[in-house]
Amino acid sequence: MGKLPPLMTEPLFTPADEYAMRLALDQAQNAWLVGEVPVGAVITRGGQVVATGYNRPITTHDPTAHAEIVALRHAATLLENYRLPECELFVTLEPCAMCAMALMHARFKRVVFAARDPKTGVAGSVIDLFGQPQLNHHTRVESGLLADASAQLLRDFFNERREAARARRAERQGLIPTGEATHLDDTA
Ligand SMILES: [Zn+2]
Repeated sequence: MGKLPPLMTEPLFTPADEYAMRLALDQAQNAWLVGEVPVGAVITRGGQVVATGYNRPITTHDPTAHAEIVALRHAATLLENYRLPECELFVTLEPCAMCAMALMHARFKRVVFAARDPKTGVAGSVIDLFGQPQLNHHTRVESGLLADASAQLLRDFFNERREAARARRAERQGLIPTGEATHLDDTA
């Protein structure tokens, strides 16, 4: 038996990558604090943090206000350039089609995401937009950095939301006497 080939699908992340993703997780917490789905993003250039963003479409009445777009707009404004070919983006969840195309329009060098999104992710989950050979710019994509922490944050958020909804329902039902529930059908 020969030696096993190296795992090509497991990219090696640097401590700087991990630092950036931890900042992105902090940003995701900020989203939770304002009641938004916790997704956060950080943009770096040459190892320096340029911009951050968190998901906030509900609070800003802006369906495009995903973490990546928020950070991207900050970075482009700050660097006074609509193209950011030296920039890298770290995001806690696999980008959707809108964000993936925005990142490619901006000519991002590299995108690193944490958890996969089987519903809207386009870095291989639903489709692979980044891998389309017909598109003229190719952004390098890597995944899995702090994926468990990011997925856990999302799970905790949705669990809390479900608990809150259940509590509200229970409160409403509590208005109906449940001791002798013989006449409940009459009230329906
Ligand atoms: Zn998006």
